[in-house]
Amino acid sequence: MAGDERLREYRRKRDFGRTREPSGRRETPGPEPRFVVQIHDARRMHFDFRLQVGDVLKSWSVPKGPSGDPHDKRLAVPTEDHPLEYEDFEGVIPKGEYGGGTVIVWDRGTYEPLSHDRRGRPVGFAESLEHGHATFRLRGSKLRGEYALTRFRGGRDGGEEEAWLLVRKAGGGPAGGHSTPDPRRARSVRTGRTLAQVAAEGGEE
Ligand code: MN
Repeated sequence: MAGDERLREYRRKRDFGRTREPSGRRETPGPEPRFVVQIHDARRMHFDFRLQVGDVLKSWSVPKGPSGDPHDKRLAVPTEDHPLEYEDFEGVIPKGEYGGGTVIVWDRGTYEPLSHDRRGRPVGFAESLEHGHATFRLRGSKLRGEYALTRFRGGRDGGEEEAWLLVRKAGGGPAGGHSTPDPRRARSVRTGRTLAQVAAEGGEE
C-alpha cells in the first residue's frame, strides 16, 4: 500500500489549518529505517513509539513508555500510521483538535530489523509485524539495544482492539540506564526542552 493510501486515517483525523503537525507529502525514505519516541501530554500522558516501515511510521501508544529493564512488559496500543516527517514534530497541538496537547521528541535514531521465523531464518520486517511479532535493535541517543513488539490480543481477523507488548530483550546489549523515563522531567533530544517549556513557548522553536 502506498504511503498516501496508508496516511488516509492520519489525515482524516486532523485539520492542517489548525495543527502544525505535518500533512505528510514530502519525505522519501533514507537507507536505514528510523525510529522515534515522542512524549505526548494529551488527555492522558503517553509515549508514542514509531518505527519506519517503508514510507510511513508504524505507531503505538505506550502509556508508560519503553523500559530498559527486560522484566518490564509495556503495553503498546497501535495507532494510525504517521508520515515520516512526524519524527521532527515537537510542539503544541491545539486544544479540541485530535491529540490536543504538547509533544516532545524524547528519542530517535535508526533501528536494525532482526525478525526471524521459527526456524531462525530472517523474514521481512513488515511481514513480521503483520504476523504480530517483530524484533529490532534500536540505535537512538537514549534507547539502545534489542527490543521486541508482540501482539497478544486482536489481530488480522479484525473485531477486537489490538494490544501489543514492547519488551527489551535480555542480553541485548547495554540498556543505557533509561529504565522508566519520567515524562514530566524528560527532555527533548532535539531541543533539550521539557514538556512544560514547550507548552510555555506555545510550540515555537
Ligand atoms: Mn499520541
